[in-house]
Amino acid sequence: MRLSFPASGGWITGSGPTLKTVNPATGTITAEIGTPTASEVAAACEAALQAARQPAWRRLKPHQRAAMLHRIADELTREGETLAHLQMVENGKSLKECRAQAASAAATFRYYAAVCETLEAAMPPSRGEYVNFTLHQPYGVVAAITPWNSPLTMEAQKVAPALAAGNAVILKPSELTTLPGLELARVCERAGLPPGLMSVLPGHGRDVGATLLNHPAIGMISFTGGTATGRMIAETAARRLIPTALELGGKSPHIIFDDADLDAACAGVLDGIFEGMGQSCVAGSRLFVQRGAHDAVVARLCEAVRKLRIGTPDAVDTDLGPLASMAHRERVEGYVALARNDGGRIAAGGKRPDHLDCERGAYYLPTIITGLSNEARVCREEIFGPVLCVIPFDNEADLVRQANDTVYGLACGIWSPDFKRAWRVAEAIEAGTVWINTYKQLSIAAPFGGFKESGLGREKGLTGLRLYQQTKSIYIATA
Ligand code: NDP
Repeated sequence: MRLSFPASGGWITGSGPTLKTVNPATGTITAEIGTPTASEVAAACEAALQAARQPAWRRLKPHQRAAMLHRIADELTREGETLAHLQMVENGKSLKECRAQAASAAATFRYYAAVCETLEAAMPPSRGEYVNFTLHQPYGVVAAITPWNSPLTMEAQKVAPALAAGNAVILKPSELTTLPGLELARVCERAGLPPGLMSVLPGHGRDVGATLLNHPAIGMISFTGGTATGRMIAETAARRLIPTALELGGKSPHIIFDDADLDAACAGVLDGIFEGMGQSCVAGSRLFVQRGAHDAVVARLCEAVRKLRIGTPDAVDTDLGPLASMAHRERVEGYVALARNDGGRIAAGGKRPDHLDCERGAYYLPTIITGLSNEARVCREEIFGPVLCVIPFDNEADLVRQANDTVYGLACGIWSPDFKRAWRVAEAIEAGTVWINTYKQLSIAAPFGGFKESGLGREKGLTGLRLYQQTKSIYIATA
């Protein structure tokens, strides 16, 4: 059965080609989904613009908008198990992780309900006989484009603040993971969101995505994905002179000084790279270890990695499921082969597991590589898979130079009990998020985004709502 999608104020099956999503754990088809033609994309954009302009939505008071977001959060909580399964059967993440992400999606709506109701605007000091204040107004229609690694969290992270800010949203999910976005739209509808305010256009980026972004109704683009795609999207936004927020790739340095608590540091490193099979933008994929601790750290990591349970994503004891697709596994395998050719030593993993059906499932062992320098291609390019490169360093200056020697700047982790040193390094590292003696702690209340080629703009936090609004200054004469 060809699934329908919400567009132009109703659910349509679309006249574009059928999109098939595949379960990467089994190789079987998960769903067949309709896609829109260019004229159906245009109709969806025009309907979204009409919906965004409705006075009932534009003028909705913040506390009423907050109530709507709370109802969506309630529905998301009720549907948590369904949402978790839908993501699991499309991207293969363990059920444990999918459940946590479904809960986080509901929490995001609750957070933006609170922000929407409490965020205050400025009243700049007057320089004459007038009062001056600042209004924040929606762009109209926001196009949200998302990747396949964590649709549950990322789509909520865009849709909740964009609605809280008073916009209509059109989501173009990754062609690999469409079902969570469709379910989010169903949830919004059940919560009473008026038709046309939340649309989902399934399909490929190069046709449905590009057509969407070029439509004149789109007033703002919020994109998460790879840096190369982000650059193309920024070019479209520049040509159209519309704002864009870009959350892009990373090659984050994870740093262990020789005075660190090695048990805690190794546990942090392990989670930081292997959770979600390394398919995380903030994966700590370059591990810098102070030379004196290098061998001990590698030995501990190799021992710990062998204890990770790789299995089918729905099994309760599975730590790591498959990669998101066969094509992605091939890409990861290509990088490991490259590391071997460059003289890297495979300290752990580097192959498919023997105990799983790797013909049907995109399984791969978590892999640790030593003996390469920061110049190697595997240390420079984002692999987006379970591959950790360990690189020694001698002193702080050498470390900061190497850690910053990358086009990316998304995240960094530092392990040391010496807070003055950790603070110095945190300040010197070019990254949007730095963790000290922890890794991958993420809060919807904290701004998130990248330095350098890891992105533009900051999602989340109070300013995450302002991302979806434009500012207007009002002057009222007092004399
Ligand atoms: P891609 O950049 O390939 O795709 C992201 C989205 O953009 C997909 O929906 C894709 O559609 C769409 N797209 C592709 N081309 C166009 C186009 N010309 N116009 C409009 N839309 C387009 O990334 P992946 O899906 O492969 O995701 C992995 C990447 O995402 C990694 O680099 C990772 O670092 C990054 N990422 C960044 C995060 C952050 O917060 N900084 C978080 C998570 C991931 P299609 O489905 O056809 O590919």
